[in-house]
Amino acid sequence: MTDDCIFCKIIEGEIPSHKVYEDDKMIAFLDVNPVSKGHTLVVPKKHVENIHEAEGMNYLFDGLVEVSNAVKEAFDAEGVNIAQNNGEKAGQEVFHLHFHITPIYEGNELDITYNRTELDEGEEVAEEIQKRL
Ligand code: 5GP
Ligand code: ZN
Repeated sequence: MTDDCIFCKIIEGEIPSHKVYEDDKMIAFLDVNPVSKGHTLVVPKKHVENIHEAEGMNYLFDGLVEVSNAVKEAFDAEGVNIAQNNGEKAGQEVFHLHFHITPIYEGNELDITYNRTELDEGEEVAEEIQKRL
């Protein structure tokens, strides 16, 4: 529990939320400003800031699969996007690790625009990443 963290407060029950799942390690609740109906956040109970501190938290993936299935089925979504922001510049606003599950409905597709380029210097780029793994 970190005192000024809104998700820790939700986990502790100090702030209300629309919970859809909870076990000893994680919780899932509706986003207060949903992008679409059923937009759900999957959140570990352990306070870590983002993905870079998430080593060993593999259980989150199982949770994501389970909750994604439920979110998709609940209102018969056409698909589901999973988003996860790390760092202020990447759009992270709440600094407690979380995954967004956003259902996509027919006629209500998300406008996610990435400016794609052609892959350049693929070998060097891959090598810089590879040598850190
Ligand atoms: P981020 O931008 O950090 O990836 O996403 C944070 C998300 O948390 C936002 O989508 C925002 O709507 C949601 N959020 C912020 N405060 C609260 C809250 O008090 N309750 C709930 N349920 N969601 C929140
Ligand atoms: Zn927290």
